Amino acid sequence: MEISFTGKRALVSGASKGIGRAIAIQLSKCGAEVIALGRNKDDLDSLAREGKSIKVISVDLADWELTRKTLGNIGDVDLLVNNAGFNILEPMINVTESHIDQLFAVNYKSVVNLTQIVTESLLRRKVGGSVVVVSSQASFRGIQDHAIYCSTKAALDAFVKVCALELGPHNIRVNCVNPTVVLTELGQKAWSDPAKAVPMKAKIPLNRFAEVSDVVDAVLFLLSDKASMITGTCLPVDGGTLAA
Ligand code: NDP
Repeated sequence: MEISFTGKRALVSGASKGIGRAIAIQLSKCGAEVIALGRNKDDLDSLAREGKSIKVISVDLADWELTRKTLGNIGDVDLLVNNAGFNILEPMINVTESHIDQLFAVNYKSVVNLTQIVTESLLRRKVGGSVVVVSSQASFRGIQDHAIYCSTKAALDAFVKVCALELGPHNIRVNCVNPTVVLTELGQKAWSDPAKAVPMKAKIPLNRFAEVSDVVDAVLFLLSDKASMITGTCLPVDGGTLAA
């Protein structure tokens, strides 16, 4: 199945490293012009060297107004991948108000902000579009030391369903992908200890963690016209964990 994004402009958050970086590069290989958001300058500079069709912008997505100001002149966007996210690992009993605010600011509020920015432009231009949110298996399941992270991801799944209802009549599709563990920087922090990794992997019928490319493929499918009848869904990329 060949997917082409020629003539499309895509905005990808959290594109400086990990899953988002791979999504940005693959979108560019499939013909899209990509606007890649992140913070780390070295990572963004090296991403910009990956291809002429990738433009990088540094912004702290935790800052709602700064994000709006920084993206004020990005022009028309057809595709959005809300991928930026992070975690603070701790037992629920240790969670502070500040940690809740930090996690919701990036993992949830920035998704609402970017989705508004992009859909306002789509609605104004009266054209369809596609939004994919990188949620997590953590939205469906309780995971130790992930209380607020799980909550942010569950909030994303709910957000996507309402967006699908409201934006469907305008041919704007909004979906989630919900991956299991991927051993990126973020994944390694939570799962490099075998005492945690072995029982987690044992819950996955396919008996392995996800590769970055497993998530990239699911995201590109949902962004593309091959998924033109799919909206409001949360697609597990979990090796069958939920089937068990
Ligand atoms: P990484 O830590 O590798 O990358 C996270 C990305 O998010 C980086 O580009 C980082 O930018 C960006 N980011 C974080 N905070 C901010 C901020 N305040 N402003 C702007 N950018 C920010 O993580 P992954 O690639 O693993 O994760 C990507 C997504 O996938 C996340 O939403 C995560 O929750 C989700 N996910 C990951 C899983 C895993 O096991 N890895 C499993 C399921 C879901 P910079 O470094 O430049 O600050």
